[in-house]
Amino acid sequence: MINLILLGLPGAGKGTVSERIVDKYHLTHISTGDMFREAMANKTKVGLEAKSYIDKGNLVPDEVTAKLVEERLNQPDIKEGFILDGFPRTTKQAELLDGILERVNKPLSNVISLDVNEQTLIERLSARFMCKNCGATYNKLTKMPKVEGTCDRCGGHEFYQREDDKPEVVKNRLEVNEKMNAPLKDFYEKKGLLTVIDGEQTPEKVFKDLDAVLSRD
Ligand code: AMP
Repeated sequence: MINLILLGLPGAGKGTVSERIVDKYHLTHISTGDMFREAMANKTKVGLEAKSYIDKGNLVPDEVTAKLVEERLNQPDIKEGFILDGFPRTTKQAELLDGILERVNKPLSNVISLDVNEQTLIERLSARFMCKNCGATYNKLTKMPKVEGTCDRCGGHEFYQREDDKPEVVKNRLEVNEKMNAPLKDFYEKKGLLTVIDGEQTPEKVFKDLDAVLSRD
């Protein structure tokens, strides 16, 4: 069983590489960002609470986020392992996660950090757009749908830019996340779990590097 954490700032390519890892290793992809977006769309209690933070590019409080993750990790579909994408984002969350993983009896196999410089992140986030129907991610510079105006994954025809990918929010989002990122990496480095992968590389090469780490175990 592979239980993996993927660290990296917004735009580092966590979602893209997760798709490939999930395909190969049949892991359950758990993205707190996706879960919050779904909760907001369904106007659930958590969704309404999270919205005010997310719209400004701030972090949702640690306890709220950790609770969401614990509920998800208790679902029966996580048999062959999981990939946590976008959680933990703070050392407090990392500490809470230690407790959660102990309770659900799922020890971590690896923590991978996708490192990308800030200029690249800004360029990637501003060029990013999503399928309105299935949430698949595209990029005006690097990943257009194969057939113009049609989603590769679900065939949908409507696309949108995430509210928090708009330039006025991106700057704050990166600042907030950057501050938290280094201590988080230290936390897992000290546990001997961290591997850093150069996220400036092509998606194929990022996947290859990550695959090499996973098949090593
Ligand atoms: P993402 O799609 O991972 O960039 O997440 C979108 C937004 O959801 C973030 O900007 C945060 O406001 C919120 N969010 C996602 N994951 C977390 C987390 N682990 N802790 C706090 N807020 C989060």
